Amino acid sequence: MMTRRSFLSSISGAALTLGATTAEAARSDKWVLTDAQWKERLTPEQYRVLRTEGTERAGTSPLNDEKRQGTFHCVGCDLPLFTSEMKYDSGTGWPSFFTTLPGVFETKPDRLLLTVRTEYHCARCGGHHGHVFDDGPAPTGKRYCNNGVALKFVAAKS
Ligand SMILES: [Zn+2]
Repeated sequence: MMTRRSFLSSISGAALTLGATTAEAARSDKWVLTDAQWKERLTPEQYRVLRTEGTERAGTSPLNDEKRQGTFHCVGCDLPLFTSEMKYDSGTGWPSFFTTLPGVFETKPDRLLLTVRTEYHCARCGGHHGHVFDDGPAPTGKRYCNNGVALKFVAAKS
């Protein structure tokens, strides 16, 4: 007899496979690096967040207070993810955005906590960035709660 646990894991397994196929069709410029190559490219904290779905301590990112005009890039592969117009102060201690540049993230359910959260990762290098919640401001109602350590801010040229 199939237990509830194995039933659930077979569903999420199917969803993940489907997601990967769709994403591969959408992007042909995917990065495939080995763990050793990522460790060379990234600092230990960047590696922990991007490659092992870690979370930085709240309130530790200097990007919480970044208010200049510019673009937030993936620190793993330099893909532009958010503009400064998409950022808002959520009061959570993590850089927060109500939307993203188009097609830059893929999502999957994260069952680490008791409630299922939606994890999102860079569509190009697969790096984990954060979780998206439904308690954001208008017009989207979304809150992209992003680890600052996974982002690189590029100030707009004035
Ligand atoms: Zn990336």
